[in-house]
Amino acid sequence: MGTRGLSLVKTDVKELISLLNKALADEWLAYYQYWIGSKVIKGPMKGEVIAELIQHAADELRHADMLVNRIIQLGGTPILEPKDWYEMSHCGYSSPSNPFVKKILDQNIAGEQCAIDVYEKLRKLTKDKDEVTYQIVLSIQTDEIEHEEDLQALLEDLETITK
Ligand code: FE
Ligand code: FE
Ligand code: MG
Repeated sequence: MGTRGLSLVKTDVKELISLLNKALADEWLAYYQYWIGSKVIKGPMKGEVIAELIQHAADELRHADMLVNRIIQLGGTPILEPKDWYEMSHCGYSSPSNPFVKKILDQNIAGEQCAIDVYEKLRKLTKDKDEVTYQIVLSIQTDEIEHEEDLQALLEDLETITK
């Protein structure tokens, strides 16, 4: 980033880059969890849930793109090795080894709740200190809040029909 742009950042840039890289690892793992989940899922309301999982996977990939661009702008190096994703991640990865629709929804809801917390931390860290990163983080968090809501609504519908 240019010197004037960087001079606007009033927080520890190294720490910020490290947290953005951790969020990047989360996004890739979330992307894969949604995407592979949409392939293996079984059970009632499958079609509707698959459509949502695919949409969310695309959102997570877009979030990864937003994070990488900002990491590079801040002068950082984005994670270059997929093998580092697990170690760097805050939220981890839940394998859809049980492909039943309820189980997959539960796993992804937990992932979204973790993501909301990660972006809350980043939002607090950057508020009034790095407005550009703040806007990116807020925009991603807004999506994660919607993701949680969408999945909980699907779970609610599923519970009405399976009761
Ligand atoms: Fe995301
Ligand atoms: Fe999400
Ligand atoms: Mg959605």
